Amino acid sequence: MTHPASQALAHIADIVGSKGVITGHDQEPFLTEWRNRWPGKAAMIVAPGSTYELSQIVKHCAHHKIAITPQGGNTGLVGGQIPFGHEVLILMKRIKTIHTICPDSNTICVDAGAVLEDVQNAAQEHDRYFPLSIGSEGSCQIGGVISTNAGGVNVLRYGNMRDLVLGIEAVLPNGEIWDGLNHLRKNNTGYDLKQLFIGGEGTLGIVTKAILKCFPIPQQTQTIMAACPDSQSVISLLSLMQNESGGQVSSFELIMRPCIDLVLKNIRGSRDPFSVPYPVYALIEISSGQGLDLRNVAEGTLEKALAQNLIQDAILADNETQKKAFWHIRHHISEAINGDGRGIRHDVSVPIAAIPEFLEDAGVAVEKIAPGARPIAFGHVGDGNIHYDILQPIGADRDYLEPFFRTIENTVFDIIDRHHGAISAEHGIGYHKCDALAARKSPIEINLMYAIKKAIDPMGIMNPGKLLKPTKENTK
Ligand SMILES: Cc1cc2nc3c(=O)[nH]c(=O)nc-3n(C[C@H](O)[C@H](O)[C@H](O)COP(=O)(O)OP(=O)(O)OC[C@H]3O[C@@H](n4cnc5c(N)ncnc54)[C@H](O)[C@@H]3O)c2cc1C
Repeated sequence: MTHPASQALAHIADIVGSKGVITGHDQEPFLTEWRNRWPGKAAMIVAPGSTYELSQIVKHCAHHKIAITPQGGNTGLVGGQIPFGHEVLILMKRIKTIHTICPDSNTICVDAGAVLEDVQNAAQEHDRYFPLSIGSEGSCQIGGVISTNAGGVNVLRYGNMRDLVLGIEAVLPNGEIWDGLNHLRKNNTGYDLKQLFIGGEGTLGIVTKAILKCFPIPQQTQTIMAACPDSQSVISLLSLMQNESGGQVSSFELIMRPCIDLVLKNIRGSRDPFSVPYPVYALIEISSGQGLDLRNVAEGTLEKALAQNLIQDAILADNETQKKAFWHIRHHISEAINGDGRGIRHDVSVPIAAIPEFLEDAGVAVEKIAPGARPIAFGHVGDGNIHYDILQPIGADRDYLEPFFRTIENTVFDIIDRHHGAISAEHGIGYHKCDALAARKSPIEINLMYAIKKAIDPMGIMNPGKLLKPTKENTK
């Protein structure tokens, strides 16, 4: 795609007015992503003030065949929200109204530019719970979490965004506004079109509004930090906890010891919950209504776990401060890794039972490629999702692993394939994993994906080069 003519860009400026055009140094935050891996460049950056304005821009871009990249909170970790030269970067931050929260039907109607944390808080004000919870919730937007099908710490109980969206409105690549704002939990009327946009990473259109599910607020929660001898014990503990609590486990996170060391070293105000180090930890949350004595359930389960040698120690949070201190560790692991080096990071999933073997196989393989490199594993183990990051050997330069990047990544992905896993569990494909995806999907799947892209975005203007590898075919 060629660089758009300045006249065509001037018309976009007319549509949004001076308030909506981002220029000069103000552009920087939107062209730099969290891990500083993909520096961006845009033909123009605009923040439309309404869905109507947005549809006018897209119509104009379609007419002039101008490429578009949508951006939400810019917290994506695979470069999907970053433009690379000829695109108009569309920021959704001004389309952010939280319209209605209906406690009776347990639904929230919200604009795509609303920040996730604001939506959680608004739900709470109406005595409702919106369960999507991720480390970036103070910045990421509803449109972004829909478009990446975000997961987070409560997927085990409430599902990921695919499970939490009832309906959406989107601006299609020809500028039309599609009203798919369905409130229904049962709607068996043909293809479920919204699912194409959930996890679509902005390649099929721009999500502008959504109807989301919400839930009663859990009346009681018990948070536990358990110290375990190895990852197999963590998996067995998950099973035990689910059985004993009657399926009340809402979060179950695996944290390998090196994560705790990094948080203690790089994040101020962190404390080791235990007086001695253990190889692996499980951060567990069980929650329910008033009927169950959760503390009793937790204590009984931990006693059984101790007798079966699944745990070596455990602490039940006695109050909100202690609970926050446990989660503080989990939520700061990513930042603590950034503080130590330019890691090679993998967001992958395997069947839960295969996690210990995956960790073992990957550790051996990485050691062969880059002796001394440090695997740092953590993640939403209840969903089979592991963040498997590799840091340079102690004492080596921050960028030491860069020459090994592709080899390590391909090796880890090959091990994932052997365990029938996925090379992206929750961050998506974006720019970063396009080639890896193309190499792994079957020809039938890839052909279907290109056919869908061509049917909805025949000119290939929506976020080109993301999710699907650009081909002559899909940019015609
Ligand atoms: C500290 C941290 C912790 C994280 N933890 C998790 C986690 O636990 N679970 C998880 O799933 N993810 C996690 N993420 C990554 C996750 O992808 C994002 O935080 C979130 O889903 C992206 O939302 P965003 O609004 O920032 O989208 P952006 O980063 O702006 O965009 C992401 C993708 O969505 C597209 N997009 C954005 N808005 C729209 C729209 N309105 N319509 C169409 N396309 C759009 C973009 O083009 C891009 O392809 C984390 C990220 C960080 C930085």
